Amino acid sequence: MRILITGGAGFIGSHLCDRFLAEGHQVIAMDNLSTSTIDNIAHLAGRDDFSFIKHDVTNYVYVEGHLDAILHLASLPSPVDYLEKPIPTLKVGALGTHKALGLALAKKATFLLASTSEVYGDPQEHPQREDYWGHVNPVGPRGVYDESKRFAEALTMAYHRYHGVNTRIARIFNTYGPRMRSDDGRVVSNFVTQALRGEPLTVYDDGSRTRSFCYVSDLVEGLYRLLLSDEVYPVNLGNPNEMTILEFAHQVLEVSGSSSEIVFIAPTDERTKDDPHVRRPDISKARRVLNWEPQVGLEEGLRKTTESFRKRI
Ligand code: UDP
Repeated sequence: MRILITGGAGFIGSHLCDRFLAEGHQVIAMDNLSTSTIDNIAHLAGRDDFSFIKHDVTNYVYVEGHLDAILHLASLPSPVDYLEKPIPTLKVGALGTHKALGLALAKKATFLLASTSEVYGDPQEHPQREDYWGHVNPVGPRGVYDESKRFAEALTMAYHRYHGVNTRIARIFNTYGPRMRSDDGRVVSNFVTQALRGEPLTVYDDGSRTRSFCYVSDLVEGLYRLLLSDEVYPVNLGNPNEMTILEFAHQVLEVSGSSSEIVFIAPTDERTKDDPHVRRPDISKARRVLNWEPQVGLEEGLRKTTESFRKRI
């Protein structure tokens, strides 16, 4: 297959490039490098089966030749980024998805949308199944990300129903691993960086909110299987191993062997407004239609992540 990956220089996008190349496909990575780095794909430079186009997907996208699939990963998924850049976040979810879908239609390519567990907002059903419609505050600070992805899902289904484009929607839950930006402000990057530097781990509020963390190679396997499946409706991809943020902080300290202390802080900005209280994927659908479930435990995943951060810090 000849595949375009938007956001191909990002954390998950770059791992997808590696995976598709390893399977013998040709990959074109497209990225505007606004929150990603060329370092993530530098090891692929010079390969005949790989190319990179620096482009903002919110503008008209031109790609020469045929395409079999488009994986639309371009986004600003870190709360710190989307709170700082709310309008680019809305634009990439709306205009960027429109351009990428238009290209899929023109090329008769299969289109995969990287959507998010944020479409469930601060969920009132737990764990979250794909048929839950969510609980999102459209005018809150997180609304820019949540609503852009909800719009992207609606647009993807409209291109499927109206134009007959072959589409897939992955709802990605918290994912971590090597190549995460150490300054992306998310809990994994913050805690691992703080632990390695011997700085206090900053637990927001009382640390009782929950998340479920999926290692990146598991997620990539799920995305790969989803693309090759014929499932049009959304599929949750994540690790159902749920824990509180405080428990997670202790895990990071244990795995990194750090003696950092844990501090509880109440952010004075909008960082924790509408912050989901709980989050855990129900992955029965992924198990059923993709025969997929995560393989990498938190300890192993955190060890690999910590090693990669150690080299960079
Ligand atoms: N969080 C925290 N300390 C940090 C960063 C995040 O306690 O230094 C909390 C945050 O309030 C949220 C959870 O960790 O409840 C996960 O936040 P993250 O930014 O990783 O992503 P989210 O899952 O909210 O999209």
